[in-house]
Amino acid sequence: LTNSLQDIISHAKEYGFVFPSSEIYDGLQAVYDYGQNGVELKNNLKTAWWKAMTQLHDNIVGIDAAIFMHPLTWKASGHVDGFNDPMIDNKDSKKRYRADQLLEGKAEEYAAAGQTEKAHTLLAEMGRLLGAEDLSGVRDLIIAENIVCPISKTANWTEVRQFNLMFSTQVGSVAEDSSLIYLRPETAQGIFVNFLNVQKSGRMKVPFGIAQIGKAFRNEIVARQFTFRMREFEQMEMQFFVRPGTEMEWYKEWKETRLKFHKAVGLPVEKLKFHDHEKLAHYANAAVDIEFEFPFGFREIEGIHSRTDFDLRNHQELSKKKQQYFDADLDENGKPFGNYIPYVVETSVGADRLFLATFCNAFTRETVGEGENEKERTYLKLHPALAPIKVAVLPLVKRDGLAEKGEAIAQSLKSSFRTVYDDGGAIGKRYTRQDLIGTPYCIAVDYQTMEDDTVTIRHRDTMEQERVSIRELKEKIGYQVSM
Ligand code: ATP
Repeated sequence: LTNSLQDIISHAKEYGFVFPSSEIYDGLQAVYDYGQNGVELKNNLKTAWWKAMTQLHDNIVGIDAAIFMHPLTWKASGHVDGFNDPMIDNKDSKKRYRADQLLEGKAEEYAAAGQTEKAHTLLAEMGRLLGAEDLSGVRDLIIAENIVCPISKTANWTEVRQFNLMFSTQVGSVAEDSSLIYLRPETAQGIFVNFLNVQKSGRMKVPFGIAQIGKAFRNEIVARQFTFRMREFEQMEMQFFVRPGTEMEWYKEWKETRLKFHKAVGLPVEKLKFHDHEKLAHYANAAVDIEFEFPFGFREIEGIHSRTDFDLRNHQELSKKKQQYFDADLDENGKPFGNYIPYVVETSVGADRLFLATFCNAFTRETVGEGENEKERTYLKLHPALAPIKVAVLPLVKRDGLAEKGEAIAQSLKSSFRTVYDDGGAIGKRYTRQDLIGTPYCIAVDYQTMEDDTVTIRHRDTMEQERVSIRELKEKIGYQVSM
């Protein structure tokens, strides 16, 4: 059975993973809330990342910087002048589009029809025109390619304008002394401005890294594909400071390390691939995306960028504060490497995109049984360490002390991992409820339990049951649910 994005969105809502924001007011575009199960899954992913990046690396530490930053930060980073998307409106439908996405869509059409050369030419032409000061050529190309608005079906387009993606607001109590401030569009800058604070207070030696998880905001023109492109989202970034000249080694190393992480959290290797950037951002000398195959195709979930000293150098220039590091290690002539501005290799993954990838990958519908007993089964095949609930304790019936026994078992497991107790309805229905949210283990309490203190563990994926003693539960399950 193939899953559409629509099936996934419905499941996420129905079982408490993701809700549209402010839904009673018909929602707010490209903003979503995580529900009772979604927050657990997302927290588990964040914990896995945090552990992989900080706990497992002696030379990486974490920080938690504020969302608001001094406005000059965004001047230095290039976001005030360069963080733009080209937008175009259709005059009839009044709908707004990203000019580059319209052209990319057309190129995809050509490619799908086997006209690869045409697709390449179009993309190259687009790249050239988007780089120009005057964007009128982009509009001409859209018209020449006869790209019509999906809604109005006309090619009645406005001019192409640059649209800055940063949200701004005012700080200050009264209008006169208030000043313009931005909501950070990436978490990275909170790390750059704290580079020396961390280096000095932590006595860090290059190479070392700083990791952070936090919210970022972008006023995306076209918000589509559920939580793939949100206006408020969360990033998990790590900036790794290295000696200039060694950045390519580290870039290669981080590429491999990060791919391994995605496999470790359960994304299958055939749904992951690298996509090297041919066109590099202004700050990078090498860049690659890790892409995951969503129901709508291979798309970026993480970016790995060799950012050179672009950010630290610009911060040094604007702040007039030296952003240098003294490297006492000796070079091949026996002299210390001395003072320099470190180069940076960054890894940047969206917590929400990783969540969506994990959710899409886990969503499983299978036909089980044969003949008359054939039925469809839906479950979330999540890595046990990521599952919102690890264990459900289910007494076969409520009477004869089974309920009390079940409650006591649940109580004894709670402090070790997230455990629920459920005695409502037929046991088959209760298994199904847990399958739908991805609980890896269901413990059934039956009459035999009352005699010999054993229970059955039912495994989510295989539906197989095994008999184990209550004493063994904590260790047996604890081993499976850690990463
Ligand atoms: P895209 O090309 O898809 O807009 P990007 O290249 O601008 O992404 P980066 O600036 O490299 O993205 O950000 C790093 C990561 O942050 C991305 O790999 C993605 O996982 C996440 N991210 C970026 N924008 C969004 C968004 N609007 N919604 C959710 N996650 C996002």
